[in-house]
Amino acid sequence: MSNTFLPFSKPTIDEATIASVAEVLRSGWITSGPKVAEFEQQLSTYFGGRPVRTFNSGTCTMEIALRIAGIGAGDEVITTPISWVATANVILEVGATPVFADIDPVTRNLDLDKVEAAITAKTRAIIPVYLAGKPLDMDRLYAIAKQHNLRVIEDAAQAIGSSWQGKPIGSFGDFVSFSFQANKNITTSEGGCLVLNNQAEVVLAEKYRLQGVSRSGWDGIDVDVLGGKYNMTDIAAAIGLGQFAQLDKITAHRRALARHYFAELGADFEAQTGAILPPPEFANTNWHLFQLELPARMSRPEFMARMKEHQVGVGFHYAPIHLFTLYRELGFKEGMFPIAERVGKQIVSLPMFYSLSIADVSRVCVALRAVLSH
Ligand SMILES: *Cc1c(COP(=O)(O)O)cnc(C)c1O
Repeated sequence: MSNTFLPFSKPTIDEATIASVAEVLRSGWITSGPKVAEFEQQLSTYFGGRPVRTFNSGTCTMEIALRIAGIGAGDEVITTPISWVATANVILEVGATPVFADIDPVTRNLDLDKVEAAITAKTRAIIPVYLAGKPLDMDRLYAIAKQHNLRVIEDAAQAIGSSWQGKPIGSFGDFVSFSFQANKNITTSEGGCLVLNNQAEVVLAEKYRLQGVSRSGWDGIDVDVLGGKYNMTDIAAAIGLGQFAQLDKITAHRRALARHYFAELGADFEAQTGAILPPPEFANTNWHLFQLELPARMSRPEFMARMKEHQVGVGFHYAPIHLFTLYRELGFKEGMFPIAERVGKQIVSLPMFYSLSIADVSRVCVALRAVLSH
């Protein structure tokens, strides 16, 4: 067995991309410029011609979508407790009220029955999260949104390359937000993009992205809304263009790695260890993460420490948001979302990244069996 440490995630930037970044650095134009425009154009083509704007994070894209939708004080937004805390923080940032609905234990995504039960007269939007890149039942999600007249801000941070019935996530729906943070399937180091519905939303997205500034009249600029400083640089966009060119290869490799995890662990793995595997689905999911729910007898810190002895890095995505102090102070407490609390305590992410090899996956599986049969 090799003793090089395997991290759970690692970006792969090829030499051509590095050369294109150097070219931007030498060009004298290193902030938002032609590379950003080209990246947005390519993303828009991929998303079926829908308008796309880039930003400096996936977090601000969701905050800006909420602002474009006019959501703020007095409005309720439904989301999942099992996500990166950004998903709920943006609801607080715009002054709205986060409402959590529990997750489905199999998909680990929002349970749409619980979403329906959480809708009130004040509900204005749903923020579904595609954990590990796995979409929800998109037909049912949008049927619920339509029936209750709700906006949808898809937190597709992990879902670039995923699809639903043959259509890429982002090519249909309402607002769709992606992250290009370093660990995502494609990266710009930090960054994100938002898929929009129409030109009016594009105008607002551009204003919120850069201090509310708009071009007006022959003599310059005006400011009529409060915007921030959220633009992507050409340095980041050059990385994004190099990564985006490889999206199909990246997704195919991740699916092959996931298939190998299942093959290597075998059909009796769950019965033998008590751990719970993700649903073996390969048409829609981009396999951003390969996640296990540990059996109750094995604590996550113990599992992580033992895997580390085998030179395997393990991540966890995520601790339940509603149990963080900030959210407890808003009145959330233990027992409110029991499935999210169980999964959030026991979920782990095994190594999954583009430069991971099939042999590496075999090595992880050997370690996994040794640790779980301990
Ligand atoms: C990464 C991530 C975010 C935040 O994206 P940033 O680009 O880091 O701001 C939000 N939600 C989910 C589910 C994520 O995985």
